Amino acid sequence: MSAHDGLDNDCIFCKIIRCEIPSFKIFEDDSVFSFMDINPVAPGHSLVIPKFHTPNIFEAPDIWAAATVNGIQRLARAVKETLNPDGINILQANGPGAAQSVFHLHMHVVPRWADDDVKMNWGISPGDMDAIGKLAKQISKNVN
Ligand code: 5GP
Ligand code: ZN
Repeated sequence: MSAHDGLDNDCIFCKIIRCEIPSFKIFEDDSVFSFMDINPVAPGHSLVIPKFHTPNIFEAPDIWAAATVNGIQRLARAVKETLNPDGINILQANGPGAAQSVFHLHMHVVPRWADDDVKMNWGISPGDMDAIGKLAKQISKNVN
């Protein structure tokens, strides 16, 4: 079995894993590949991807999570050590409606600074507790 089994021929991130197109690699291990985002929302914006092709969290096999989250932790610690940001957001998009643009599952590490004006904060505003409780019941019925 080759290290590149499970990759897609046309996927841009699979091509990065295979080094068919260049990237600013940060690290890789048997399971994940980490590299800089070339359209950074902030300095240090970087990505971790599993080393097999899967488009999103709905279709990913169970094994993606432990390795990828471990990779994210390693990356976030290194970014913190390097840039000393005020904070770091970890993000992962599923589907065009969530602004996913590359359909190989990936997690973003986004360093944040107090005055960075990056728009991803939605503030704190109390919700409708009845509606929240109803949705909790409905969603929990769909947990498998
Ligand atoms: P999404 O919008 O799918 O959550 O994030 C995809 C990310 O991949 C974007 O932030 C985008 O800048 C980044 N990206 C797209 N193409 C490339 C590429 O060829 N190389 C690198 N390093 N990042 C890319
Ligand atoms: Zn891929």
